[in-house]
Amino acid sequence: MTTFADLNLDPRVLQAVSEAGYQTPTPIQAQAIPHAIAGRDVLGIAQTGTGKTASYTLPMITLLSSGRARARMPRSLVLAPTRELAAQVAENFDIYAKHTKLTKALLIGGVSFKEQDMLIDRGVDVLIATPGRLLDHFERGKLLLTGVQIMVVDEADRMLDMGFIPDIERIFQLTPFTRQTLFFSATMAPEIERITNTFLSNPAKIEVARAATTSETIDQRLVLFTPSRRDHAFAEKRAMLRALITAEGDGCTNAIVFCNRKLDVDVVAKSLKAHGFNAAPIHGDLDQSVRTKTLDDFRDGRLRLLIASDVAARGLDIPAVSHVFNFDVPSHCEDYVHRIGRTGRAGRSGVSITIATPADEKYLAAIEGLIKQPIPRVAAPEIVFDDRPDRGEHRQPRSRHQGRDDRRGPREDRSRDDRPREDRARDDRAPPSAAEALPVIDPIGAEALPPPRRDDRREPRRDDRQGDRRREPRRDDHRHEAPVVGMGDHVPDFILRSFAPLAAASGD
Ligand code: AMP
Repeated sequence: MTTFADLNLDPRVLQAVSEAGYQTPTPIQAQAIPHAIAGRDVLGIAQTGTGKTASYTLPMITLLSSGRARARMPRSLVLAPTRELAAQVAENFDIYAKHTKLTKALLIGGVSFKEQDMLIDRGVDVLIATPGRLLDHFERGKLLLTGVQIMVVDEADRMLDMGFIPDIERIFQLTPFTRQTLFFSATMAPEIERITNTFLSNPAKIEVARAATTSETIDQRLVLFTPSRRDHAFAEKRAMLRALITAEGDGCTNAIVFCNRKLDVDVVAKSLKAHGFNAAPIHGDLDQSVRTKTLDDFRDGRLRLLIASDVAARGLDIPAVSHVFNFDVPSHCEDYVHRIGRTGRAGRSGVSITIATPADEKYLAAIEGLIKQPIPRVAAPEIVFDDRPDRGEHRQPRSRHQGRDDRRGPREDRSRDDRPREDRARDDRAPPSAAEALPVIDPIGAEALPPPRRDDRREPRRDDRQGDRRREPRRDDHRHEAPVVGMGDHVPDFILRSFAPLAAASGD
């Protein structure tokens, strides 16, 4: 069996790996690292949870450990689709490079340009960025990509979902032709294949797990649920979710609840909170500081239930999640695999519970076809549905304020979203329509939600929104459901932390 010592890694990297508690390389590490160390391009087909981050960070640190960064010319570049993933990669670098003097900078939206410029000006070995933010810096003339020796593209399939492929192509063209490219994707869509054929040179192709595989450590269950009344469907489904969570008892230490639509993410989170559950939402419209805090709370055990959209949650590495609840059956069968893969990681056991309505039949069939097994049906718990009008659960006024749902047909179809994945990703990133931004009657407590703030001048989150470069969001286009908190210059420590004091690297 391959050991880390067999992989030709720098001794300082080996020491950090051993201190991280890793005993043996994962399959992607064992296969990718030797090629990367030898300077070859690598095409890794691997999901998160396989150890793919270390499979490119360890050789990068080894290769970069000799040599020195020049001002504004990073020596390597890691592109990640979202801020959270970029921050996660940066944390990994901190762990593996702690015995070296390499420096890094993290370029993500929601962080002031000034601080990031300062780091780049001093010269960094590793630049970790979301594509939009990287191009922002480039266009401001603050960054040169001609010194990039190693370029990593992580979660390329997700970049595709989010419309970042043109940005990636542009970034490839700005880096030297002679660079080494390490490219990772969970799936190989034709567009991804085209990119790799164009920009990778005779890559070592490594595939460790097919997207269709679900971990055997996950106890998958399906609850068939038929609402008693059409106009109650959404509220009854929320009651069903509560009953399912409660039935899991203390065994459900923490859980991610997936909804198909970001509007529902907010409503479900609010509803759970109103019923005394420790829950918070995460989706692309929330301010970065709120997203970071919510994720930190979830990782550190202060938050039990994270209510999420696919786009916001995919790829996040939260090692110990006991349960995944699919409030909605995903319309795209691969999303099912990605969702339930949030639990049962690293050999731990996990439970996934999916609520399916009769309307979900064809989507279920697609999922079961993909994973090549039926999802075991379990009995639905009794639900307590409070039908009193003052709870407001089913008395949503039918007004234009309800936004898109009203245009989409019957109420119980609100969770179904059949649009292509790119469109859904865009929806998760795009500012709300004017109709959505108007005050609505809170379906949980029948309170009027606060009107949208008009004085907020937060910076558009370009890295998560490829389209923003062409279309600035309207100033009054704010979501109604989340308080918007500007991050200003306050940035969490881990985001700005470097491997070693910069002074050491620059010899000050
Ligand atoms: P990733 O696929 O990069 O998101 O990694 C998933 C998780 O596996 C992370 O929490 C890593 O810390 C962990 N990990 C990475 N490599 C190893 C290894 N060789 N042994 C044990 N855990 C690892």
